[in-house]
Amino acid sequence: MTDHDSDPAAYAGAAGSALHSARPPKLERDLFIGNQWWPGSTGQTIDLVNPATEQPFGRAAAASAEDVDAAVQAARAAFDTGPWPRLSLQERAAALLRFADSLEADIEPLAEVVMRETGLPWKEGIGGTRSMTTMLRYYAGLAGQVQLVERHKGITGVTASIEKVPLGVVATIVPWNGPISMASVSLPAALLAGCTVVLKPSELTPLSAGYLADAALAAGLPPGVLNVIPALPAESDALVRHPGVNKIAFTGSTATGRKIAEAAAATLKHVSLELGGKAAALVLDDATLPRLVETMTPAILFNNGQMCIQPARLVVPEHRKDEIVAAFAEAFAKVVVGPPDAPGTELGPLISRQQYDHAMGLLQSAKEDGGTFVTGGGRPPGLDTGFYVAPTIITDVSPHSRVGQEEIFAPVMVVFTYTSEEEALQIVNDTEYGLNDAVYSADADRALAIARRMQSGTININNGMFADPAIPFGGVKQSGYGQENGPEGLDIYFETHVIYLDAGPFQGMRRLKPVTVVQTSVGH
Ligand code: NAD
Repeated sequence: MTDHDSDPAAYAGAAGSALHSARPPKLERDLFIGNQWWPGSTGQTIDLVNPATEQPFGRAAAASAEDVDAAVQAARAAFDTGPWPRLSLQERAAALLRFADSLEADIEPLAEVVMRETGLPWKEGIGGTRSMTTMLRYYAGLAGQVQLVERHKGITGVTASIEKVPLGVVATIVPWNGPISMASVSLPAALLAGCTVVLKPSELTPLSAGYLADAALAAGLPPGVLNVIPALPAESDALVRHPGVNKIAFTGSTATGRKIAEAAAATLKHVSLELGGKAAALVLDDATLPRLVETMTPAILFNNGQMCIQPARLVVPEHRKDEIVAAFAEAFAKVVVGPPDAPGTELGPLISRQQYDHAMGLLQSAKEDGGTFVTGGGRPPGLDTGFYVAPTIITDVSPHSRVGQEEIFAPVMVVFTYTSEEEALQIVNDTEYGLNDAVYSADADRALAIARRMQSGTININNGMFADPAIPFGGVKQSGYGQENGPEGLDIYFETHVIYLDAGPFQGMRRLKPVTVVQTSVGH
């Protein structure tokens, strides 16, 4: 296999996708370790299937445990003896800007690959890629505002230099539902901080991550600063357990997050976990219907319905249920479902046979639980091939039903009713997850008061979901811990070193005099 442009013609017919990009996408990739492309020590590969056509379209090398070790060693050497952590923040910021420019130059072939890997419509593939260039530029811009060294005066009269230093080797493990965008919440911040990275993309989306390696090379990142190794779960576990890794930045399911936290505990690695969700949108009795429908419909459909922050549960006042459900049914009926490469497509297929079977299984459970399918509930008519699920609205199931509690990862909205605000909040908060919620009301103060009672890392007012690069994002409860985005997302890639500058002979606590108020000062 080669890292160079493979022959898309070899796959194009089978994949059945017309090219949007003027340049052909790279549909075969090796591992990227220490700025070298390497087919892997065992020759093991991952064969990729286009979710829209169910046909093979590409192949990626899969790392063995030996390759995982080689990638960590490369990142370790780059961190321990290479120039990267010793550059100034401004020098690293300049490299991030070059990285962003190189990636931007490849945006079309990359989006082409994302479209084939995920079944996302073309514009969404482009958007996901832009989230990486945006985050690279955002963190590059933040470099000027970061204070790495501060002097603090202690209460014994000593002065200490409090220094933020890069944490070390970071293993960034990302899911398939945002192959580039989910890497963007970790990679730019880790690199700016001076860490070196082993990026492990999902086995369903390994090719798109290769473009990050291309951009790193073009930007002149030193060898080992970014390594990209697709791997299956067993070898990914070896990465999490590797003693050379200092931090795991994981985005994925809660089930895998639990395994990772447990495996990482053996060597007390730092861990940040961005996990699953089952977001709710609470509609108060004074909410405006057009605003609700125009913001919630794209939130349900975005990413082909496969978003951790998708507000999949709609909690409405009993007396407004019919009017609200009818308005959504009308909006969902207008959605253009079809091949991701067809002009005008708004909703493509789910990523894989496994996800399709999972979604169909949950829809079946809703039927068995007495649910009413207002619209959808299965394959859209006329799409017999590909992992398509029609936009679906379910009513008349309990909030405790499987479809009311489990992540479905499909364009499906489940509607629950309430008769008091207390009951509504109970429904919203009665989930193991706490990633994202929403509240709709015409009264801003009332909405804010309700938002403050929602047990979620992010809450939107009069909007289904939103994420800004400069605003922190993270889950609570079993949706994980650790904040990404914003200055908080950079802080998780530093650790603190303290250097006492002028302490006298050690006297234990004998220097301490009785005090009533302890005052300290911070200076430079
Ligand atoms: P997943 O947990 O199956 O896999 C995520 C990643 O972990 C993949 O790269 C996979 O190869 C790897 N992995 C699997 N087993 C592993 C192991 N034992 N050790 C180390 N790595 C392992 O999740 P998925 O199906 O790829 O993604 C969908 C899930 O991700 C959903 O639950 C979704 O809610 C969640 N998600 C969360 C966020 C967030 O920001 N909170 C964002 C996107 C997706």
